[in-house]
Amino acid sequence: MSEACYLKWDVELPERPIKGVKYFGNLKEFVIDSGICSHCTTCANICPVRGITAGDKPIDFPNWEELCVDCGACIRVCPRWNYVPLNGMGEFKEMVAAKSRRFTGQDGGMVTEIIASALEMGVIDRAIFVGRDDEWKPTIVHVKNIEQLEVERVRGTKYSFADVIVELRDAVFHTEKGVGVIGTPCMVSGVRKLQKTVRRYHDRVKVVIGLFCTENFYHHQLYSFLEEKGVDVKKIAKTDITKGKFIATMESGDTISIPVKEFEPIVPSGCKVCQDFSGVESDVSVGSVGSPDGFSSVIVRTDVAKDIMDFIRKNDYAELGEVKQTVIQKLVDFKIKIHPYPPKKKE
Ligand SMILES: Cc1cc2nc3c(=O)[nH]c(=O)nc-3n(C[C@H](O)[C@H](O)[C@H](O)COP(=O)(O)OP(=O)(O)OC[C@H]3O[C@@H](n4cnc5c(N)ncnc54)[C@H](O)[C@@H]3O)c2cc1C
Repeated sequence: MSEACYLKWDVELPERPIKGVKYFGNLKEFVIDSGICSHCTTCANICPVRGITAGDKPIDFPNWEELCVDCGACIRVCPRWNYVPLNGMGEFKEMVAAKSRRFTGQDGGMVTEIIASALEMGVIDRAIFVGRDDEWKPTIVHVKNIEQLEVERVRGTKYSFADVIVELRDAVFHTEKGVGVIGTPCMVSGVRKLQKTVRRYHDRVKVVIGLFCTENFYHHQLYSFLEEKGVDVKKIAKTDITKGKFIATMESGDTISIPVKEFEPIVPSGCKVCQDFSGVESDVSVGSVGSPDGFSSVIVRTDVAKDIMDFIRKNDYAELGEVKQTVIQKLVDFKIKIHPYPPKKKE
């Protein structure tokens, strides 16, 4: 991050509602402790003293009273500060069902295909992917070439928070052409805030892919929940949330299906105030609903995403089909309905 950026903050410090308390103390009070933090980890990315911690636990800054340098950066980039929920289908140029001919994935492997094509085109020279360990704990993978995408664990959905945006700090520092980022809608909003605030992110993050999302989980909570249900997490080959069910496909080929309603106690409170299903601020959104099995629904929003999809078409890298927009719209509307903000008070 450039020094000039800090100088700008010095002259344009945001208002702090609790006077006399450091900025992190304000963020803690109004976002973290109030339960609306989405765990996007953008604050952990920007903190100049690296004091803000993410990982598989709520955002924290141990000993912030002493260590916080009170620069206000965390508040500047937090998508939940003065929170106004984003929602809707967002603007888009085209919507298509697609299945990569080169990669398998969670659905049509289109996230992987878009990044592979962007690498081939030279739009980016790296992207941050979420892999996993044997217990399905997310790991971060800096993908710099297409061969890395052949590793199965790099592709597919992990229903747990991952420190993608924390890692973006390194990626924007080392890139020459640009970086691709993939994330849930709250993470996309975090990236956009970084881009509006810090020139290096503005110039170097070139492709932002938003994943459709209803909720995410802390890994340790999801893991314990599944173990309590008798699921041997280490033997899961794939997980899916579809049609109101969490489905674990085991290495044996058997499937275990649990109604999503049963996960309610472990849905993080920050997800319960989110209304953005489709990732309206992304360059291209990708999800499962709206397309036939084995296909991804792809919502192309910006010129860079259009160029990549044109490249995919020209090279015949994907089989294309029709999206049922009304099905996606249903989920878009449902998320707004079930997550009113501010939350309705119980009588
Ligand atoms: C928490 C979560 C909830 C979701 N909920 C829905 C939903 O309700 N409805 C729906 O239609 N789709 C949902 N999706 C999206 C869906 O599961 C697929 O990711 C999407 O359809 C893309 O499939 P693909 O085959 O094109 O992706 P692939 O080519 O398989 O690539 C998957 C990409 O997702 C990234 N990724 C995996 N896990 C994470 C993570 N935890 N955080 C950030 N990036 C990650 C990987 O790095 C990879 O780039 C959700 C995704 C996530 C991560």
